[in-house]
Amino acid sequence: MTGQQRRLAANRFAPAEVEHLPMRPLWLCRRCGQPWPCGAAKLALLAEYRDVPVSLFLDLAGCLHDAIDDLHRLNPSVTGSAADMFDRFLGWPARHTHAYRISATTAVSIEEASS
Ligand SMILES: [Zn+2]
Repeated sequence: MTGQQRRLAANRFAPAEVEHLPMRPLWLCRRCGQPWPCGAAKLALLAEYRDVPVSLFLDLAGCLHDAIDDLHRLNPSVTGSAADMFDRFLGWPARHTHAYRISATTAVSIEEASS
């Protein structure tokens, strides 16, 4: 089966326009219902921003900001910790993007430079 045939077969059940995108204000995946970004969304984002990882972090930071607002507005008691939300949106690409792994030495010099 070629890639095109696979896509056509899959499209019979799931329209191509239903991608793994966030459904606001719940921030669940429109396609699979997992907390966004789901695994498929992460793979798509990594591929889409392969050459511009800084843009990936900027866009996800915007999503994190919006998600905190949306989820807090829906139900302040179940937003979860700030650390969990940060890891959900910005922790995973740092683990997958080699260019953004900060060494201990670099982290110290950033702190020194900003103080
Ligand atoms: Zn999904």
